[in-house]
Formats: sequence, C-alpha cells, structure tokens
Amino acid sequence: MRAAVMWEPGGPFDVREVDLREPGPGEVAVDIHACGLCASDMTLTTVFGIPTPVVLGHEGAGIVSAVGAGVSSPAVGDHVLIAWITPCGACAPCRRAQSHLCSRRRTSREGEGAGPSSPLSIDGTEVQQGMATATFAHRTVVPAIAAVALDPSVPFVVAAMMGCAVPTGVGAAIRSARVQPGDHVAVIGAGAIGMSAVLGARVGGATRIVSVDPSATRRERAVAIGSDEAVDPEELASMSPFDVVIDAVGRAETTTAAWRATRRGGSITVVGAGRPGQKIEIDAYELFHDEKRLVGCFAGGMTLARDLPVLVDLWSSGRLPIESLIDGTADLGRINEVAAAQGAGEVLRTILLPRG
Ligand SMILES: [Zn+2]
Ligand SMILES: [Zn+2]
Repeated sequence: MRAAVMWEPGGPFDVREVDLREPGPGEVAVDIHACGLCASDMTLTTVFGIPTPVVLGHEGAGIVSAVGAGVSSPAVGDHVLIAWITPCGACAPCRRAQSHLCSRRRTSREGEGAGPSSPLSIDGTEVQQGMATATFAHRTVVPAIAAVALDPSVPFVVAAMMGCAVPTGVGAAIRSARVQPGDHVAVIGAGAIGMSAVLGARVGGATRIVSVDPSATRRERAVAIGSDEAVDPEELASMSPFDVVIDAVGRAETTTAAWRATRRGGSITVVGAGRPGQKIEIDAYELFHDEKRLVGCFAGGMTLARDLPVLVDLWSSGRLPIESLIDGTADLGRINEVAAAQGAGEVLRTILLPRG
C-alpha cells in the first residue's frame, strides 16, 4: 500500500509502497479516506524523539476494512476516526476522569507506554508506526479501541480535523481554560490549534476574542474565521488585561507574554507543545499576589472515545464551523508541498487524501 515514509528526522516525506500486515487479535484495519498534517508531525522526530524510518499522521478518518480475531466492535464498513490516545481505563489518571493522560497510552516511542510492534515494514525491515496511528497511508492497522465510531453524516475531510487540532484547541478553551460567557480571551498563535481555540472560546460564550500572531496573513485569516481582532505580539503587551489567555505556541516567550496579558485572577492555558528543557520565569510575588492560574493542557484535555460525540454535535448544529479551518484537499503524493505551505502560514490546513 502507499504511505508517506520519513526516513530521517525532520523529513522530507517519501511517498512509496510500504507493507502493512493484516490485523491480529483485537486489531482492525482502517482504509484512510482523509488525514490532516498537524504541526507536531514536523517536530515529533526532531524534538520529541520518535525514531525513523516512520509513517506519521495522527489525524485520520476512514472505513473499517477488516477486523482481527475477537473484535466485536467496530465492524467492517463502519466509519471511524483514529484516536492517538487510547485510555487503558485502569491507571490512576484514567480512574480520575483524566483519561487523556493515561499512563499506559500506546506510543511508537520505546519506554513510554506499551510500545506496539509496528504493523509496517519495507522489504522485511520494520518501519515505525508514528503515534501508533500512521494515518499518512492508504490503510492502517490499530487496536479496535483506537478506531472510534464516527457518525457517517460527518464528511471524512471534516472528521480528520477532529483527530487532533480541533479537540486540542476547543478543549483548551472549554475544558482547561473553562471560558465563561462574557470572558475576554486572547489566543496566542493563529495556526490550526489556535484557531480551534478561537472557535472553542466562541462556544464558551466569550464576548471578545483577540488572536495574536506575527504573520499578517494569519491575522487576516483569524478575523475571517471568527476572532474579533488580530494583533501582532507587540500590540498584545499594550492591551488591557484579559480574563483568559490561551498560548497555542508554547515557547518561553509566548507563555511569558500570556502571563503578562492576563488580569489578576485570570487564567493562562498553555496548549502549544513546549520544548523539553526550556524554562519559563515567573515572578514569585506576582504568582502569589495576582492569583493567576497557569495550567498546562495536553490534547485539550479531551479523549475521542468520550468527547467525539460532543464535537460532532457542536459541528452539526453549526456552532463549530470546522470547514472554515480547511483550505482544500490534496493527494497524499503532495504531502511535502502541503507541509511547506502550512509551515509558512500560507494555508491553515490542507487535508490529504491517501486514496485520491
Ligand atoms: Zn496533533
Ligand atoms: Zn490509563
């Protein structure tokens, strides 16, 4: 089958034939009809230690095409979204309703979670299954629990966005930051996660939403999608303080800017993936005196098994216009071009179609 292989950390992608074994006991095969390229796909191998060669991709939707022994659900023909967090249901975070933090989450990284043996290979040599999902491919094999039932009324192109960017950004606003009606919210970073946070802040009832991004193109797009205003990072510093600031970038300078832009008693949610080893300095007196809450936010605090129906409801009722985040579609063969255009901020999300 055709898949995009990354041979060296950081790329490029090599779209070529890869062998995929059939699903074993407890597993299913899913034909991938649409997948998104998340910004983190470009840093997983360089910053976060996922080994190469690897097939990446963790925003993928499709149809179950085979099931292994012992699988009662989903069934062949079911529409599903691939989940990159599959809670075990038994660890401490799972038992405390924080299943997105499951300590036994499957990953393709050795030493973290129960590392699966990859179903992918080329000429007998194993190829890693990135994020244990590998959706930049014609087909993937995952445990049945990772194929989450998807209402067939949701187009695959829209569903793909619900695999990572949308739950992460929307969850940052409504779950972590708990945006309240009337809140004034600033969102730092106008990429797909930042823009999903803007949509989430709107769902939460924010009455003023300001996007912050150095790129004029992205600022224009932010206003088109639903921000009331979009400013560059320097302008943020001179604005009156916000109730909620969401940092969708996660660098020391953006988190510091978020801290400064938040009012006393307000909250800062960092949903952008921080870099290992980078430190953030906070004034100890301010932390005490200003009573701000600074919280990290992994995957928007969402797990698809529990939260996908909520996202689908919000989308189908018109409250979550996911289509506004999508610039178009492209064949998987154009993945390098799409990665470059998204990285440069020329487009927000071009959804890849592995089956043409
Ligand atoms: Zn992602
Ligand atoms: Zn768990």
